[in-house]
Amino acid sequence: MNIPFNDFASPYQELKAELDEAYARFMQSGWYVLGREVEGFEQEYAAYCGTKYCVGVANCLDAMHLVLRAWNIGPGDEVIVPSNTYIATWLAISHAGATPVPVEPDGRTHNLDPAGLAAALTPRTRAIMPVHLYGQPADMDPIMAFAGRHGLKVLEDAAQAQGALYKGRRAGALGHAAGHSFYPTKNLGAFGDAGAVTTDDPELAGRLKVLRNYGSQKRYYNEVIGYNSRLDELQAAFLRIKLRHLDEWNERRSKIASCYLEALQTEIGSRQSEMTLPFVPAWASPVWHLFVIRHPQRDVLREKLAAAGIATLIHYPVPPHRSGAYAGLRLAQPSLPLADTLAAEVLSLPIGPHLTEAHARQIAGALNESLNLLAG
Ligand SMILES: *Cc1c(COP(=O)(O)O)cnc(C)c1O
Repeated sequence: MNIPFNDFASPYQELKAELDEAYARFMQSGWYVLGREVEGFEQEYAAYCGTKYCVGVANCLDAMHLVLRAWNIGPGDEVIVPSNTYIATWLAISHAGATPVPVEPDGRTHNLDPAGLAAALTPRTRAIMPVHLYGQPADMDPIMAFAGRHGLKVLEDAAQAQGALYKGRRAGALGHAAGHSFYPTKNLGAFGDAGAVTTDDPELAGRLKVLRNYGSQKRYYNEVIGYNSRLDELQAAFLRIKLRHLDEWNERRSKIASCYLEALQTEIGSRQSEMTLPFVPAWASPVWHLFVIRHPQRDVLREKLAAAGIATLIHYPVPPHRSGAYAGLRLAQPSLPLADTLAAEVLSLPIGPHLTEAHARQIAGALNESLNLLAG
């Protein structure tokens, strides 16, 4: 067996005719920055998410940073963020000059626990950034209610959740704004870097269009200190094609996840295992960006799977508060034990629209075998 974690070749192979046609159209258009493809994608992606606006930017880190800037969140301000997330969520806050204030996750979903918000609130709190981690929406209703009571903005980090539903509504349409990543590994992946913001707020969308383009609305007239963070025209052309296949590809991920859950649950049920499987609350329709299990002897399991030819990854081995980047950050709540435990125990199995169910069953079989060996 030789199963890689990501399959980058198959998406192109499946959509080759459409993608090649888009490339030729782009090359012949003679217009390479902020043109019809970006505009078309923005409209189509906003419609898909169910928001009024989409503003394409260079990547998700920029998307989130620019939203915070547009909201005038900066030095002296605090933004509540999950302790368990990819570091980009924290970096967006730091780049805006504000301070990340972590809240621990719910132990079952690994997403921000709304019960932790009250303790993190100070007079400086301006916003909350829930992350829909692994493709599963965060519990947004209590988060929005809390934000409403305290006059806070809510910025979703939807990088891993294109298409996910929370009580029937799409990730990206649940907060006041959302950052999206189209990095190649994401569910809606470009062939390079790309990102976007979705929102219903016309004023925010307008400010973002200015900020992404050197702070300029009218050429050579610069109203604010802006950035160069535009969604690339060619990537937009590719994304328009991939968006048409997103639901089907998410459905395929879902089938793989069902295979895993079935094969692993039976095994867990048959004896006392220390392994934890992904937990999906009744109100969530996840899109399975990642399939993450938990085990106290994660590293041993990982080695055994590697020996069987199965690549796995760890999302993430170092929580942001333990990273060198935040060595100097003094946290009001210095101990984040759940984030630490998750970093030590989580393991991501291969999942994607081009992984076969036969492979998924083989992977589950190899995992069950490794668990048996561990159990002695
Ligand atoms: C990938 C990712 C990002 C960053 O996206 P980029 O487009 O690479 O900037 C942010 N947050 C989460 C949760 C991610 O998974």
